[in-house]
Amino acid sequence: MNEPSFNLQQAQLLDAADELRHLRARFEMPSDVIYLDGNSLGAMPKRAVGVLADTASRQWASDLIRSWNDNDWIGAPQRVGGKIAPLIGSGTHEVIVADSVSVNIFKLLTAICRDRSDCTTILTEAGSFPTDAHVAQGAADVFELNVELVERCDLLGQLNEKTAVLLLSHVHYKSGDRFDMASINAAAKRRGVPVVWDLSHSTGAVPLDLRRDGTDYAVGCGYKYLNGGPGAPAFVYVSGDRQQTMRSPLQGWMGHAAPFAFEDDYEPAPGMDRFLVGTPPILSLLALECGIDEFADIDLEQVWSKSQSMFDLLASQMAKLCPQLTLITPVDASHRGSHASFSHPNAWPINNALIARGVIGDFRTPDVLRFGLTPLYTRFEDITRAVNILAEILETEEWCKPEYSQAARVT
Ligand SMILES: *Cc1c(COP(=O)(O)O)cnc(C)c1O
Repeated sequence: MNEPSFNLQQAQLLDAADELRHLRARFEMPSDVIYLDGNSLGAMPKRAVGVLADTASRQWASDLIRSWNDNDWIGAPQRVGGKIAPLIGSGTHEVIVADSVSVNIFKLLTAICRDRSDCTTILTEAGSFPTDAHVAQGAADVFELNVELVERCDLLGQLNEKTAVLLLSHVHYKSGDRFDMASINAAAKRRGVPVVWDLSHSTGAVPLDLRRDGTDYAVGCGYKYLNGGPGAPAFVYVSGDRQQTMRSPLQGWMGHAAPFAFEDDYEPAPGMDRFLVGTPPILSLLALECGIDEFADIDLEQVWSKSQSMFDLLASQMAKLCPQLTLITPVDASHRGSHASFSHPNAWPINNALIARGVIGDFRTPDVLRFGLTPLYTRFEDITRAVNILAEILETEEWCKPEYSQAARVT
């Protein structure tokens, strides 16, 4: 089957008019791949290769331990955090890079719960990203609380004075549903309940304004839309007026007021530094900085606006050429993030057949095909080609080949 070329030409016109089209050249992208999975592992910024090489061959190999001061390794968690601040609408000193999303959720939940001994439950959404519920269950055990896993529509109804903390993922990893952060914060505040937001699927994708929206606590991911590389460290945010009273039970020397005084007793550092635990992973942290630096001269409103246009193109082409698939992501842009998900009972083999043809999205159990829209390096042309290839796979039933039904450890 030939590609319907009029589609492709229309898409190329959209690319020619795209204000962000110059950014794609800043990322490595194999020419035989259409990458629609930057919401799971962002593309590699070309600059990262040089920075990693310099960090290894000069800073580590030659400067050795002097690098902590001379190359300011010691200041990297705060410096890189400060660069995330404009992307989430926080103050520079309200965010720090550390550990993983999972560990940072644990720090915030436990720091909050230790001061809320009259409460009985941690409330979170059923069917959200599993690590959030798992960490909540672990934190609840420490304080002998229950975890209530509740459907999205019942969350506010379950929120009451017995709720120690509400933990929510801002953009749902599977459906792409986005919460209205300001209204949830306001509703929780009326009941006196702190809210921890997981921004993994929104940071670097949708404009955020944590201060305007009254957010006190948040975490987010470095390797998704921030393009920080595999296993990049995560970030943690606490609003300025909450920081001084927060005590994370994960007390480590890097979060001490004076790490190099080598004192026996722990005294938390002022501000966000108290959320550091151990020695930061410098190679990963400096790769993450490259990813974040790519946002320095662009406006997230532009990124989000291109994401919406890409979504519209994807949704309309899919409806036309692949009607067997059902869109499960909200069409109202204010209610979604930057990926589009479709359900189909054979999503797993279909996704494998797509990957074999160079179209990389992902499968989410049990029946979801998920496509990430990453405006920094995804073109309208890519969307059009991907849908055309998918239509062909469905029409020819190429996905029925037995090799596409084989299991894999990572999906
Ligand atoms: C990606 C993601 C995470 C990742 O957690 P890690 O600890 O970095 O593995 C956590 N929560 C959500 C909602 C995510 O999408």
